Amino acid sequence: MSDDLFLKIIRREVPADIIYETDEVLAFKDLNPQAPLHVLIIPKIHIRTINDIDDEHAELVGKLFLAAKDIAKKYAMSQSGYRVVMNCNGDSGQTVFHIHLHLLGGRALGWPPG
Ligand code: AMP
Repeated sequence: MSDDLFLKIIRREVPADIIYETDEVLAFKDLNPQAPLHVLIIPKIHIRTINDIDDEHAELVGKLFLAAKDIAKKYAMSQSGYRVVMNCNGDSGQTVFHIHLHLLGGRALGWPPG
């Protein structure tokens, strides 16, 4: 699939509040935030789910976490804490089939998640 929602955001065909961008990674505010800071961090190439991550994507997936670290620092959450999570398929609640790391912070987060 070459036309998922997040590819449209990358191409600026769908508006988003973009807060971070590199050649390979984009991050923008979630439309339906679940915490004071709720950011989605995505690769600029289409990878449908975690199940579709290959060895060749290992460095790219690492860069999603590096983006999370940088964004958390920018929003002064490095020390107070934050969570990153990536859903995979139906039971997890994945609704957009282009892998994305949720970065949540700005409040105490319950555990375990629902
Ligand atoms: P997931 O359930 O893990 O697939 O997460 C998909 C996320 O994308 C949800 O948290 C949605 O609120 C968010 N979302 C859906 N459409 C948009 C959009 N156009 N801009 C920003 N976030 C979106």
